Amino acid sequence: MFDNDLAHPPDQRLAGFAQTMAVFRDPTAMAALSILRYPGPRLHTVAKPVAAVDTRIRDLVAQMFETMYEAKGIGLAATQVNVHERVIVIDVSEERDQPLVLINPQITWASDEKRLGEEGCLSVPGIYDGVERSTSVEVQALDLEGQLRTHKAEGLLAVCIQHEMDHLMGKVFVEYLSPLKRNRIKTKLVKQQREDERYAAKPAR
Ligand SMILES: [Zn+2]
Repeated sequence: MFDNDLAHPPDQRLAGFAQTMAVFRDPTAMAALSILRYPGPRLHTVAKPVAAVDTRIRDLVAQMFETMYEAKGIGLAATQVNVHERVIVIDVSEERDQPLVLINPQITWASDEKRLGEEGCLSVPGIYDGVERSTSVEVQALDLEGQLRTHKAEGLLAVCIQHEMDHLMGKVFVEYLSPLKRNRIKTKLVKQQREDERYAAKPAR
């Protein structure tokens, strides 16, 4: 997920969420992964559960954090880097020092109270629109040690978790919008991608 302005009050962003993962930023991590763009069929793949939290998964998580921080995102699902396993990385803090890893996440409770908020996505560059989400959720997920943990989240973090969980089900936030809006976005992004590719194909001078 991409947050256009991190202007939300800190209490709203992190309330009820003192317990985050230990800081996990490997300075020796490899280069950032490339992020799939909408509309692309691979973004609609349903992710499989992670069988074992091993070195391969820990390396993937490190690379996903690298990719998310480089892209200035606040959340990234493995689906977006073309790995179809249930792994999510999130950091909604302004200081970029509150990494959260969710492996095989399940939403165990969601508030009836919902709120319409503006969302953006690293796979849908430059597009922001309103999506209605539960204001609080409880999610159970494995951490990097393979331990099951329960997280209670509110505000921006709760929205981000719901947004990333959708990616694991092959759903992109623009699918909540009207077909008319969605088609406009598709057309715009296809055109933009073509221009980017043409630009990339040109020699430097
Ligand atoms: Zn997204």
